[in-house]
Amino acid sequence: MSIESLVLGAGQEVGKSCVLVRMGGKSIMFDCGMHMGYLDRRRYPDFSLISPSGDFNSSIDCIIITHFHLDHVGALPYFTEVCGYHGPIYMTFPTKALAPMMLEDYRKLMVERRGEQEQFTSEHITECMKKVIAVDLKQVVQVDKDLQIRAYYAGHVLGAAMFYAKVGENTMVYTGDYNMTPDRHLGAAQIDRLQLDLLITESTYATTIRDSKYAREREFLKAVHKCVAGGGKILIPTFALGRAQELCILLDDYWERMNLKIPIYFSAGLTIQANMYYKMLIGWTSQKIKDCQTTRNPFDFKHVCSFDRSLINSPGPCVLFATPGMISGGFSLEVFKQWAPSELNLVTLPGYCVAGTIGHKLMSGKPTRIDLDKDTCIDVRCQIHQLSFSPHTDAKGIMDLVEFLSPRHVILVHGEKPKMASLKGRIQSELGIPCYDPANNDTVVVSSTKTVKVDASETFIRTCLNDGFKCHNKQLEDSWTSSSGHSGSLNLISSRDEVVAEGIMVMEKSKKAKIVLENEYLHIVGTEKHELQLSCCCPVSKGSLIQAMSGSDASSASETLVSTDHRYWIHCLWLKLKKESDFNNVQEVDNCLSLNSFKSHICPVDNCPYRTGECDEGGSIMFFCCSWSPIDEKIAWRVLSIMRETSLSEVSEVCRSPTGLLI
Ligand SMILES: [Zn+2]
Ligand SMILES: [Zn+2]
Ligand SMILES: [Zn+2]
Repeated sequence: MSIESLVLGAGQEVGKSCVLVRMGGKSIMFDCGMHMGYLDRRRYPDFSLISPSGDFNSSIDCIIITHFHLDHVGALPYFTEVCGYHGPIYMTFPTKALAPMMLEDYRKLMVERRGEQEQFTSEHITECMKKVIAVDLKQVVQVDKDLQIRAYYAGHVLGAAMFYAKVGENTMVYTGDYNMTPDRHLGAAQIDRLQLDLLITESTYATTIRDSKYAREREFLKAVHKCVAGGGKILIPTFALGRAQELCILLDDYWERMNLKIPIYFSAGLTIQANMYYKMLIGWTSQKIKDCQTTRNPFDFKHVCSFDRSLINSPGPCVLFATPGMISGGFSLEVFKQWAPSELNLVTLPGYCVAGTIGHKLMSGKPTRIDLDKDTCIDVRCQIHQLSFSPHTDAKGIMDLVEFLSPRHVILVHGEKPKMASLKGRIQSELGIPCYDPANNDTVVVSSTKTVKVDASETFIRTCLNDGFKCHNKQLEDSWTSSSGHSGSLNLISSRDEVVAEGIMVMEKSKKAKIVLENEYLHIVGTEKHELQLSCCCPVSKGSLIQAMSGSDASSASETLVSTDHRYWIHCLWLKLKKESDFNNVQEVDNCLSLNSFKSHICPVDNCPYRTGECDEGGSIMFFCCSWSPIDEKIAWRVLSIMRETSLSEVSEVCRSPTGLLI
């Protein structure tokens, strides 16, 4: 079983987010965005890769949109109304309310631009939104009998959600854009600790670690205040929703505290309508905002008024919020052309601008002029302030989320190639999770969980429950059991979360598979337990044995023994082992020598099958028949090497030869 992710956009770039995930026989499209930096066919995902024939309805089971930003929803009306997809589309309630405004804003911008062909109409937007099913956070949505989805709060912008999807045993999360720290109007992303095969996460700030938000906001306010105090005009290019509201709360509050009278403008009627939605959807904002709304709705801005085109060249300082963000065209570009040539003025840019926009050009090294086209050139003398706060998570936030969810695989999207590569390295080395950073139109295939349901016998389950304590290894277990006093030994034993239970899975025809214990298994197959024993008939020189005896303190036991007695030679061997090894638990029992499972006695026959070639030349050699269990193999080899007075490796050679084995 595998999960296949076809990255149609936001692969090693930011823009036109779109990933088609195939798992358990289902296909889900996550986001359907457009690229703000392109005007040609690269602006939309290459949908022909999903279905060359254009039959999207049989090749996609549902579309999930994470939030209203155009790089996540911008291609949706085109895909439904022009390409003809009419299957289900899911998004949160706020996204459903706000996405049409973003789309309409963008459509107008495109129509205004000379020579620009309209990709979709207002009717297309309306028709498209009719197909959308709105969902609540944490609501379990059954798309069909096999596919289940659930939304989680993502911060970022109003209504943004991460989506969990499950088909049979296959599970995954697609984050969309998210923020792990709360901002002025939104809370931090929140998700359950889910068991995941795959996590697809954004990585805009893959290598950035941000400092305190408070300091960064102060820096912004300081720059704004300095500019208006010097009589300058401030242009804040933003999209209608999201950043505009966050900065507005910040400025409105500052104006109130500082008693400033300079006007703050919002361009077009659009943002006023957006602010109304923010007031309505206050339940999706942060706790702080919800707490203070009893006294005053924070989206009722006191100092903000709407802007009229005639005010562009009127004298005096002001602050203007104008769409679109990143100065990708439209009204913000029109104002920029007028205000950029004066060094009194200030342009405030968000932390991230898509490649190909004027915002991006301004951020990558301050240019003194920008050639718009072959007839228009803008003289840039104004100051540029780059906002260092952003509604995206930073590198620490991404690492925290990946660690918290600990999925089996991670795919990075929505980021820049070199930064993604560095984050990918960290996820693999620090968290030990396989990570991928595919380019656009690449497919990543990862394995998914396959669990088999089996029965288990009662005895087996009971052993699992009893097994809460385990020793680290055999050696420590030995020192625990052999220590006479308990003091100091307790720390050798530690409990573990993971309990390993060993059983045997029995699969019988037309019966459900069952896990049983070993003795139960023997009963099922009607057999008795067999044990593997290894044997070797080992030659020992009589001389070395006699030497061991004479070298010892002549004990009373040895005095009474005579050389015709088996016990005499066993005792000699015992003395030899004691002298030449550090084994302290070698025992003589009757006519046998034992050490754990290793047993040795004098071989009673001349043609013993366990001999390995040697013969008794002139009665100088004695043969000892030895046997042991595989668990004591190493002990046996050491004993045998002492008996034969040869090296360990020679003994292991002999013992591995077929004649030395008995099963
Ligand atoms: Zn976004
Ligand atoms: Zn985005
Ligand atoms: Zn033998």
